[in-house]
Amino acid sequence: MNTNYTLVSRLLPQDSPRRIDKMTPTYITIHETSLGTDTKDTKGGTMYGEKHYEEVLNNPNERNVAYHFLVEANYNEPSRVYQFLPTNVVCYHAGSPEGNYHSIGIERLVNSDTNMWRAIYVQARLSAELMKEYNIPLSHVVPHKFWSGKECPGRLLAGMYCGWNGFVEIVKKEYISMYGPDNLINT
Ligand SMILES: [Zn+2]
Repeated sequence: MNTNYTLVSRLLPQDSPRRIDKMTPTYITIHETSLGTDTKDTKGGTMYGEKHYEEVLNNPNERNVAYHFLVEANYNEPSRVYQFLPTNVVCYHAGSPEGNYHSIGIERLVNSDTNMWRAIYVQARLSAELMKEYNIPLSHVVPHKFWSGKECPGRLLAGMYCGWNGFVEIVKKEYISMYGPDNLINT
């Protein structure tokens, strides 16, 4: 699976109310999301991540939620990872204070033209990269449900594609393929 991606930086403004506090992340929280629309952008591409930024994250009328990364893997387009916040900033994505104050939130788009397997692998690779950067153990890569009980990421929790346990295995394989087995912290 090709897990290469382009990092698209769309950091929320410094004075954004969605920047809650500073943190040192010790967990990674996995989400799925959809805009509920397949509208193409003005350039003819999809670029759903741009829409999330413009219509949700940077919209003053929306709820006070945010997350750090959004994985977008559309058919016939290269994979993209949008970054909306630095990884040392607290934001509200997990549904519980503990999750919000200790974890990096990674959303994965699940639109009709999402190449789901590629999106899952890119999300796993990004998780492995963040594990390495912050010495986060594999057991601290958790579903949104872990914090709040919400059925997210819904498809993986329902056993679709690789399922949740399969996702963790992919994270592990991605980690080992990039950094070798020696630095992997399991628990
Ligand atoms: Zn979620």
